Amino acid sequence: MLIKQEDMAKPQERLDTYRLYKQSRPVRYLSEDPAPVTEYVLQWIFQTLGLRSEQVGSVPAAGVLDLYYGNRKGVTAGIKIPIRETDVLWDALIKGKVSAADCSGRLDFDIIGAIARFITDKVNAGLPLQAYDPHGRLLFAHSFQAKAGLATIPVVNLYISFLRELIAARLGLVGVPLWPSGKTCAIGLSHDVDVPEVYAVLQLPSYCRGKGLSWHLSVAKRKAKAYLDWIRKVDPEQYWCFDQIMEEEAKRGFKSTFFFSAVSRACKWASGFDVDYDITQPQYRQLFKRIKANGFEIGLHASYNACRSADILAAEKRRLEDVAETQVLGVRHHFWHLGTDPEQTLAFHEQVGLAYDSSLAWRDSIGFRRSLALPFYPWWSSARRALSALQFPMFCMDAHVLLFDTPSREDPLARLKECTRIIRQTGGLGVIDWHNRTSFPKGGKYQTWGYAYLELLDYLASDPEIWVTDLGSAYKWLESWLQKSHYGQDHQHSGC
Ligand SMILES: [Zn+2]
Repeated sequence: MLIKQEDMAKPQERLDTYRLYKQSRPVRYLSEDPAPVTEYVLQWIFQTLGLRSEQVGSVPAAGVLDLYYGNRKGVTAGIKIPIRETDVLWDALIKGKVSAADCSGRLDFDIIGAIARFITDKVNAGLPLQAYDPHGRLLFAHSFQAKAGLATIPVVNLYISFLRELIAARLGLVGVPLWPSGKTCAIGLSHDVDVPEVYAVLQLPSYCRGKGLSWHLSVAKRKAKAYLDWIRKVDPEQYWCFDQIMEEEAKRGFKSTFFFSAVSRACKWASGFDVDYDITQPQYRQLFKRIKANGFEIGLHASYNACRSADILAAEKRRLEDVAETQVLGVRHHFWHLGTDPEQTLAFHEQVGLAYDSSLAWRDSIGFRRSLALPFYPWWSSARRALSALQFPMFCMDAHVLLFDTPSREDPLARLKECTRIIRQTGGLGVIDWHNRTSFPKGGKYQTWGYAYLELLDYLASDPEIWVTDLGSAYKWLESWLQKSHYGQDHQHSGC
C-alpha cells in the first residue's frame, strides 16, 4: 500500500501566492533595446524572481525608474545595466567574487543580453554539422558550454540569483517565492519508458509493409536477442518494476512522471529506433489505473518521428489519453529527438495543447543544456515570441552517471549531487530522467543502476528543502503566475 501523497501545490496556497504577487509593487523599468527577445528575457527574469514589472515609456523624473537597460548617460535609476552585444560570461561573478551587497547598482556587464544568449541557445549558433550526432543532438564536446568549462554550472541561475540579491539590496523589493510550502528548489523525477517488457518485440510482425530494410533488420536483431534471453530464462518481468518504483518514491514523499510511448515501432510513422511495446495491452491499462490512483503522472514519450509534424504529435497524445483515460500535460521525445529545427518541434507542443516539454538536455553529458536550471517558455525566433508550452530542463539521466561518466569513482552520484547543490543554492528546478528498467534493483544487468537510483532518492529525501515531485505537479503550481502572456505575447515592446 502506498503512502498517501501530500499535495504540495495546494489550491489555497496557489491562490494566496498569486494574490500576493498581484498586490506587490512592480519594478518600473526602461529598456532601450527594441528587440522582442529582450522584452521576453526581461519578463522571464521578473517572473522567475516573483516580481511584477511595468515598462516605462520614456525616461521619467529622477527617483521613478528602478531599472534602466541602455547606454544613455545621465539616466537616474536604482539599477543600470549596459547593452553590449558580446557579453556572455561574467567570470568574477561565476567565480563567486561579486557581491550584490557591495554593488553600486551600475553594472559593467550586460547580464540581460548574456541571459538571452544562453536561453535562446545563441551561444551555440552556427556550429558545423559534425558538432551534431546522427540524431541531430549537439555533442557536448563541441558546445560553447564545454569550451567554457560550464558543464555543471548553470550560469543563468547564477545571474538570476545575483539579480535577486541586487534588486533586494538596491530597490528593497522581494518577489514571491517560486516554490510552494517554503521549499527552496525543485527536482522533477521522471522515467522514460523505453523497455518495460523483455519479450515485447516477439509480438511485432517480422514483415511490415512500407518499412525499409533498416527497420526489418532492427526488428530481426531484437527478436534474435529476445529468443536468446528466453533460452537463458531471463525473467519476463525483469523490467516491469513500476509498482516498486512508485512505492520507493512514495515512501520518501515523492512523485514522478512516467513517459510512455503511445505507438510501437510497427506504427506507420514509427522508425526502427522506436519501442516494442503496445500500450493497448491489458497490463498497461491496469498499470495506468494504478499510476493515477497513486497520484503519479502519465506523460507522452513522443516517437522518434513525432518531430516531423504536429499531426503526428497530436495523434500520439490523443491515443495515450484514450488508452490511459487521462489528460496528458507533458511530453519528452524519445531519443530527445527534436529534428533539424528544434524550435519548430517545440512550437508543435503549443499547437497540440501540451502544457510542458522536458526534452532539452545534453545527450552525452550531465549538466545544463542551456546553462539554466529553471522553468522557461522557449523563445520561437521565427515568430518573434515565446511559446506557451513550458520547458523543464533536464540535467541528468541514468546513463550520464553510470555509463558516460566514470562509474568506478567512489561516489557515482558525486556530479549529480554537485548539480543538485547548485540548483538548491540558486532556487532552481532541474529534472532527472531514470529509465523505468533502471529505477529499481530487480536483477539483471541494470541491478547497480537500480541501487544507484534508490541511493539518489535517499540523498534527495535527506534535504527537506528540496521539493521532489512529478513534472505535472510542478506545472500546475507554476501556471498560477507564470502566465504565458508575460513572456512576450501580450507584453510586446512599443517599438516592435
Ligand atoms: Zn526513449
